[in-house]
Amino acid sequence: MSQPEVSVVIPVYNEEEVLDALFSRLYTALDELGRGYEVIFVDDGSRDRSVAMLREQFQRRPDVTRVVLLQANAGQHAAIIAGFAQARGQRVVTLDSDLQNPPEEIGRLLEQMDAGHDYVGSIRRKRNDALWRHVGSRLMNGLRERITHIRMTDQGCMLRAYDAAIIRAILDSREVTTFIPALAYVFAHNPTEITVEHEERAAGESKYSLYKLIRLNFDLVTSFSLAPLQMFSLVGMGVAGASFLFVVYLALRRLIIGPEVQGVFTLFGIAFFIMGLILAGIGLLGEYLGRLYLQARERPRYLVRAVLDQQGEKPAAKKKTARKKTASRKSTSAKPAGGEAAPSGNATDSGSDDA
Ligand code: UDP
Ligand code: MG
Repeated sequence: MSQPEVSVVIPVYNEEEVLDALFSRLYTALDELGRGYEVIFVDDGSRDRSVAMLREQFQRRPDVTRVVLLQANAGQHAAIIAGFAQARGQRVVTLDSDLQNPPEEIGRLLEQMDAGHDYVGSIRRKRNDALWRHVGSRLMNGLRERITHIRMTDQGCMLRAYDAAIIRAILDSREVTTFIPALAYVFAHNPTEITVEHEERAAGESKYSLYKLIRLNFDLVTSFSLAPLQMFSLVGMGVAGASFLFVVYLALRRLIIGPEVQGVFTLFGIAFFIMGLILAGIGLLGEYLGRLYLQARERPRYLVRAVLDQQGEKPAAKKKTARKKTASRKSTSAKPAGGEAAPSGNATDSGSDDA
């Protein structure tokens, strides 16, 4: 396989119900583009028939298909990075496997890249998800816009295109927990956005529980901003200042009017409010500290079990925990025909329930 113009990276986690529909629409759309492409599926530790179906698809189109099998569920973003480590295209497009991102839109993303943009984001024209997801993500979008330097109209849509230079920068980043569209934005010098269609999930269910979604959003906020911590310091100072004034007022009142015994419940109210504030502050500190801990451990953020490419199936190389920096480079440039599978990514396990 000569170097393709576009690598399409797709994470797959228990998606047996949608894969057939995805295969037929995706390859049709890509064949029509008339650009050299490769599709890299990353199986994120599926327990259903997904792996078998990916193998079959690989056999049908081995010239333009590669499959990365991860050892265990590493989370959507880590899985995408595992795909990036294998990508050989000058441009890389990411997309979900559930057909919420229509593959027919890939051509429009690439046109923007032809126009000189190195990052093409996307805005969902009409989002087709549960209502609570809309509301929650609108709030998070607004918060992210305020407290980070990342400017995106719609952070949640994964249908995006990146220049290979941005992909290299992402691979060089050793962040434990991350949010790829935001991280890529940090490295982009000429980003743009287009509006794309958004469909309902073709089949199956969302792989994100409320808990997983909250964690992902914490990843986004903590990876790109210290504002929450700073805000807490400010609120802390505010509360301390107000309490001081309150004490002065009580002291004066004691001298002028006499002792006060009523208002016990008011006091409880204030005390509980402040206790809540303190607990939230400690929790928030924990979010940052926990991520720091994950980072410090430097565990691989995903483990590759095998890579299927034209050279046949390659089990992951037995090169211990490779410092990915060199490993992934070698696998993309020095051995273009598939070569050895990069055994692992750099330290992180954003998807695992570690924290
Ligand atoms: N996904 C994954 N690992 C996970 C969760 C999700 O690879 O731990 C993949 C999933 O197969 C899909 C994409 O990430 O291709 C988006 O997931 P999903 O559609 O469930 O999320 P939603 O659209 O509900 O946000
Ligand atoms: Mg989806």
